[in-house]
Amino acid sequence: MSILVINAGSSSIKYTLYHSKTLERIDHNLIEEIRDHHEGFEVMRTQLLIHGIDITQINAIGHRVVHGGERFHEPTLIDDEFLAEITALIPLAPLHNPANIEGIIAARAIAPNVPNFAIFDTAFHQSMPPQAFRYPLPHDLYHTNHIRRYGFHGTSHYYVATQAAQILQKPLEELNLITFHIGNGVSACAIEKGKSIDTSMGMTPLEGLMMGTRCGSIDPSIIGYLMREKGMNIDEIESMLNKKSGLFAIAGTNDLRSVIDAKDSGDENAALAIDMFAYRLKKQLGEYMAILRGVNAIVFTGGIGEHSPLIHEMVCKGLEHLGIGLDEVKNRSNDIQIQSSTSAVAVLVIPTDEERQIALYVQKFLYS
Ligand code: ADP
Repeated sequence: MSILVINAGSSSIKYTLYHSKTLERIDHNLIEEIRDHHEGFEVMRTQLLIHGIDITQINAIGHRVVHGGERFHEPTLIDDEFLAEITALIPLAPLHNPANIEGIIAARAIAPNVPNFAIFDTAFHQSMPPQAFRYPLPHDLYHTNHIRRYGFHGTSHYYVATQAAQILQKPLEELNLITFHIGNGVSACAIEKGKSIDTSMGMTPLEGLMMGTRCGSIDPSIIGYLMREKGMNIDEIESMLNKKSGLFAIAGTNDLRSVIDAKDSGDENAALAIDMFAYRLKKQLGEYMAILRGVNAIVFTGGIGEHSPLIHEMVCKGLEHLGIGLDEVKNRSNDIQIQSSTSAVAVLVIPTDEERQIALYVQKFLYS
């Protein structure tokens, strides 16, 4: 009676096991430095046996899959046809989808009778209208090459939105929200009546806000300039934009706690990094305030969003004219609702739980 949730990375497998009815968490582990996913699943099989769980006897497996393209807008039962279709999407997400697919293949090999489901980071954002998801580029780049905004962290944005609805005691379909997932990866989502209408990440998770090691949005001409003037090739540039930029580039570390410590000891680059990081979040908030007709709540989640009162304060400060005010004491004492008594907009700090959301999707498949 259990549901296994798998997040397969290139050299690791994170798994969480839930009771399939109560969703009580039975086991959670990260298996690292695996040679391949079959080896990883063998390790997991042994670890699950310690809990008396035979992987071949569980109810279902839910896999996190980063990119579902336009084809997949909801959790999907995996069959051979699915695997062919998802493999065709690899060019859109070359850094993530191959490992997700290997995880699925390994799961099907080790437990052939257990149904597998794919849950996509992109799915929640498939409700975006064309004006939000199209780039101002020639039509055929969209129609032939599938270049458009897809958005990511969808499982997290949706999960915290459902939690916000519970906290505010209103149906999600009646709520307008701005959700900020701020971890190593950072993205924001404008949610209108429970549906994503825009998000900051784009065709890949590189676009949008400043992140731990990713630059977020920059002038695209910088890439050509680097090729011509510095003789960098496209792999070097992409690697720099993904792995050597963001907080890491400006402050020397991608860990916000260390950046804050450095700032407190007078490091000017650390102070600049935090100012840039918060400034971009605040600009994003303004954009989404403008496109949503009235906002019920702003939601912070992710490692930074859940734990950094400084970032909440820097993002929300001076926005009383937009109906947003923070209660400093509540913010500093890690309350869930941190808006001031006069704030028209609620400001919520909600821990995300993407694994649990995946389990909830799978559970819905199994029992409805
Ligand atoms: P990932 O996106 O890899 O899942 P997380 O969501 O765990 O990452 O977020 C990691 C970030 O959260 C790091 O920058 C870390 O410094 C930051 N973080 C965690 N705890 C705190 C805290 N108490 N104060 C400030 N930042 C924090």
